[in-house]
Amino acid sequence: MLAAAKSAGKSEVLQRYAADYPVDPKAGPHDQPQSMCPAFGSLRVGLRMRRTMTILSGSACCVYGLTFTSHFYGARRSVGYVPFNSESLVTGKLFEDIREAVHQQADPAQYDAIVVINLCVPTASGVPLQLLPKEINGVRIIGIDVPGFGVPTHAEAKDVLAGAMLKYARGEAEAGPVATPRGGRADRPTVALIGEMFPADPMVIGAMLEPMGLAAGPVVPTREWRELYAALASPVAAAIHPFYTASIREFEAAGRRVVGSAPVGHDGTEAWLQAVGNAANVAQAQIDAVKNRMLPAIQGALARMPIRGRLTMSGYEGSELLVARLLVESGADLRYVGTACPRTAWSDADREWLHSRGVHVQYRASLEQDLAAMREFRPDLAIGTTPVVQAAKEACIPALYFTNLISARPLMGPAGAGSLATVVNAAIANKARFDTMSAFFGGTGRGDQAGVWEGVPQAHPEFRADTRRQVIKLMKKRKAEEMI
Ligand code: SF4
Repeated sequence: MLAAAKSAGKSEVLQRYAADYPVDPKAGPHDQPQSMCPAFGSLRVGLRMRRTMTILSGSACCVYGLTFTSHFYGARRSVGYVPFNSESLVTGKLFEDIREAVHQQADPAQYDAIVVINLCVPTASGVPLQLLPKEINGVRIIGIDVPGFGVPTHAEAKDVLAGAMLKYARGEAEAGPVATPRGGRADRPTVALIGEMFPADPMVIGAMLEPMGLAAGPVVPTREWRELYAALASPVAAAIHPFYTASIREFEAAGRRVVGSAPVGHDGTEAWLQAVGNAANVAQAQIDAVKNRMLPAIQGALARMPIRGRLTMSGYEGSELLVARLLVESGADLRYVGTACPRTAWSDADREWLHSRGVHVQYRASLEQDLAAMREFRPDLAIGTTPVVQAAKEACIPALYFTNLISARPLMGPAGAGSLATVVNAAIANKARFDTMSAFFGGTGRGDQAGVWEGVPQAHPEFRADTRRQVIKLMKKRKAEEMI
């Protein structure tokens, strides 16, 4: 599909993706996503914005899965779909259908923007969304390609759309006056926050910024079009999630200073306040005053809620290194942190901090690497993706799902310190229940003998041997054909 897309005129966009979202062939099989369809990231960003319509162009099975997942996560609005068949795809009629759909939907009373997302097949076929009108009746049209073979994770797909919107909004702001944010213009310089976070986190950050004469700006991806202007107007952008490469490019093009890492735990907050203060030209005395107020509160919260136990952790949200720092400062013996996201300059400080405390950091981690870490370190708790959690529980290791149970918590400043301890300690304390269950069920129902059986499952090793023989024969035949 990659080759098809390149020959169908998509090489420029695929080259940009390859540079923005690099894969390390040595680090894992992340030329293909191991998590959900990446387009879900863009779809979710579109669906969470007010006055924004999101239309998918792709195979019906992909669209079914994506709409299902959207509604599972509470989208509460329709996902547009332009269907196609082989004929409309190869004759170019699909593009005409998309154009017609966009014209039909472009009602300025309802929408500020319409997002059209090309999934794998239309991207590979070169459906040219860039030829859509930039605007119809005042409704902005954003066409993006988000193929699974070009964007490695759904996290990075959020950046694809957020970056495209920021670029559009930057062009508008440069051309003339733009709408003010719903809540009015901030009376102090703001710090735009890049990356989805727990709803209380921007407020906590705002409270920490206030004594420095700053305010928390919008969170990117934004919830409304006009917030994009306010984000771009912020003199400083904080790359809380470090993989938003396209979005950061727009902030830099607008002349904004970008700060990495985040105010997590004592050391993280100390360094972040200093970096933001420096970027916003705040006097050192003011920065020190905030630190003197915040840091003892954070240290107190961490000390009150210690975590005791050996942990491994992995996820694909992009906040893994931040959570890891918090776990280590809470006293956890963390051995491994795997993230599906790539290494960027914006997580360097977190990586170095974790390395210096003996934590192995794996960017673009594959499921195999996450599982290998779990088997090697035999943790008291494995925090991970669904298949990691499943494997851990099978091995009688308590486990927590990163996305729903860990990353969806306050992490920043005093509110974040200690917020993980209750859930982590409760899970570690569950070990005895796993042992009881394991002793009760014994070896029943493992592997290919799982399920409900009327009789005792009989192994047929001869079937496997036969299939193996056939596969070897087939491979030899293919090899022989290749040599001709
Ligand atoms: S084929 Fe592509 S668009 Fe469809 S579900 Fe898979 S990654 Fe997503």
